[in-house]
Amino acid sequence: MPELRKDPVIGRWVIIATERGKRPTDFERIETKRGGGFCPFCPGNEAKTPPEVYAIRDPGTQRDGPGWRVRVVSNKFPALQIEGELHRKPEGIYDKMSGVGAHEVIIETTDHDRDTAHLPVEQINDLFVACRERMIDLAKDKRFRYIQVFKNHGAPAGASLEHSHTQLIATPIVPRRVVEELKGCNQHFDWKERCIFCDIVDQELTVGSRIVCVNDDYVVIVPFAPRFPFETMLIPRRHEHYFEDAYRGDFLSLARIYRETLGRMNVALGNPPFNVVLHTSPCNDWEAPRHYHWHLELIPKLTKVAGFEWGTGFYINPTPPEEAAQFLREAAVPAGPEGSQA
Ligand SMILES: [Zn+2]
Ligand SMILES: [Zn+2]
Ligand SMILES: [Zn+2]
Repeated sequence: MPELRKDPVIGRWVIIATERGKRPTDFERIETKRGGGFCPFCPGNEAKTPPEVYAIRDPGTQRDGPGWRVRVVSNKFPALQIEGELHRKPEGIYDKMSGVGAHEVIIETTDHDRDTAHLPVEQINDLFVACRERMIDLAKDKRFRYIQVFKNHGAPAGASLEHSHTQLIATPIVPRRVVEELKGCNQHFDWKERCIFCDIVDQELTVGSRIVCVNDDYVVIVPFAPRFPFETMLIPRRHEHYFEDAYRGDFLSLARIYRETLGRMNVALGNPPFNVVLHTSPCNDWEAPRHYHWHLELIPKLTKVAGFEWGTGFYINPTPPEEAAQFLREAAVPAGPEGSQA
């Protein structure tokens, strides 16, 4: 019989197929293909992007020229606009606000043909350093309440350019999904005086059946009540409110496990398109991030959201998380470019 499971943080119920879970090969394969053509993110084409706002470069090289390792530019087609004041206005019973925000692209590598999963850990470390630097800088702008870092990989997941990149959007409000999680964390703390994510980490390490991989600093699990098949969550093992706090000299440990998780997903599911979102505490004095615990959510794009989901907010997940975790755990991940996955 299918099972209803409740997300312990936000209380969302999902339907989990238990009879015969869909295996990786049961999903239609939409492998991300490379099309070629002109790429504005490749070295030498720096003039084709908006001016760079941040870069990690070799000494002596010029801004907006070659010599960078990671480069951050404004999105050419931003969802929100950086200039202008933040006006809140009513329209009768409705509320609106000017579309102020920042939308930036973090170009992860100079190598057009390398996916994140195939980058050296040092390069992924630089990617996280760039995210952190941009988050700290954007948070100085008092108009912003949240900085959403995310990645779309492959056209079906929303990527319009194939050259590996991550994006961020700073918004003048805290997104609803984050508010839900913050509320859940605060509620759990009020009842138990413990962080729900710390509790999840403890329990998952004890149970083991939903663990994908683990290192000294992070654990990757398939959550107990995931919306999507093979959805995973990467959680720091120590309690940290802010992603920016993860930087203790470097992000190498995070880079290693992030790459390993992507590698496992690629092997188990045949290089699927995917989305990654970073959930961290809001910026600029938003009430009570005290009990939040930052994490990454990784979602391979295997199914489409259909009528029932749209209508109810109720997701049907055809793969039990315990089986998904096992497939990911057992995926034979090839060694990384520097010869080690450890
Ligand atoms: Zn390129
Ligand atoms: Zn915690
Ligand atoms: Zn989350």
